[in-house]
Amino acid sequence: MKVLVATSRTQGDVEGDYSFCVPGELLWITMVCDTDRLYPERGCGCGRGFGGLTSHRATTTAEVAELDITETQLRLAVTTSLTDQGWLVPETAELHHELVAETVDLIHEIAEPLPAGTIVRRWIDDFHAFQPPAPR
Ligand SMILES: [Zn+2]
Repeated sequence: MKVLVATSRTQGDVEGDYSFCVPGELLWITMVCDTDRLYPERGCGCGRGFGGLTSHRATTTAEVAELDITETQLRLAVTTSLTDQGWLVPETAELHHELVAETVDLIHEIAEPLPAGTIVRRWIDDFHAFQPPAPR
């Protein structure tokens, strides 16, 4: 299936780029803080980022990758990561299945229509294929 993975490709092509993930690791669509929602130009930058499921860090560049993994394995990776990051706590156990399902669905929604190798960038809730500027 197609998923999003961290990449250093096109890093630096957009002002304010950052990349703290491990290249190749699976990404998820992280929550955006209120500051970035209200003032995306002046926020912390989380509204432009994807989260690394393994490193728990973030990057502004995601790449569509065709990986030989199953839906069950992707759900397991998301569940384990969100648990490790403290999102899935016993007090909200009845919501865990929903949160994991929404996360997995969003990954599918973004990655599935795009060819492998496409660089995806984010602006809050908007995800778009990125064309690097032509070399001068
Ligand atoms: Zn933020």
